[in-house]
Amino acid sequence: MSLPVPRRTVLRGAVLLGAAAGVGALTQIGSGPGARAAATRVDQPTIANCATWGARPPSSPVSVVASRPNKIIVHHTAFPNTTDYSLAQAYRNSRDIQNLHMDSNGWLDSGQHFTNSRGGYLTEGRHGSLYALLHGQTMVQGAHCVGQNSQAIGIENDGIYVNVQPPQALWNSLVTFCAFTCQQYGIAPTEIYGHKDFNDTQCPGLLHDRLPELRRTVAARLGG
Ligand SMILES: [Zn+2]
Repeated sequence: MSLPVPRRTVLRGAVLLGAAAGVGALTQIGSGPGARAAATRVDQPTIANCATWGARPPSSPVSVVASRPNKIIVHHTAFPNTTDYSLAQAYRNSRDIQNLHMDSNGWLDSGQHFTNSRGGYLTEGRHGSLYALLHGQTMVQGAHCVGQNSQAIGIENDGIYVNVQPPQALWNSLVTFCAFTCQQYGIAPTEIYGHKDFNDTQCPGLLHDRLPELRRTVAARLGG
């Protein structure tokens, strides 16, 4: 189920996050007994929100799904593998993706919920995704995987990994992101997939071969 939210609701979330982003201040936001118990295990990683990396506003209000996602889907951007591992490049990459999704695909905003750079920097994708993640009860409807956009959190990993492995920094931040997201939403680590599990695509390349390793590592991080 999805329902539109008034723009002011989305903006209010963005303002709240503006105060918290980048400082790792909000560590325990999940609610319910399970979320509270788990919240002590994986600290909130730094995830730059849309305002921080200079996102454009959505062309129309994002929709919020009034339930928790049940899985994570891993993507690669298929952009060339940059050797610029800086934070500035992570922000630039987030803007490039948003421009592509809005101007070429005609979407209202970035399609993915979150983005991971080759330098290991995490950023918010579609507006409202970080606010939802920190509260752990809802998700923003995405546009990253046909048939899964109202139930799967999509993480875009910058680069193309058909023939080469991702940098260690990207892998490490992917593990951290997945562990924190599993914790916040109560997603089992076994419910981490690749785009090609659902759509006809090569995405996310060799990262798909490493999903068993990713699931094991995330499970260990969660203490299970
Ligand atoms: Zn993909």
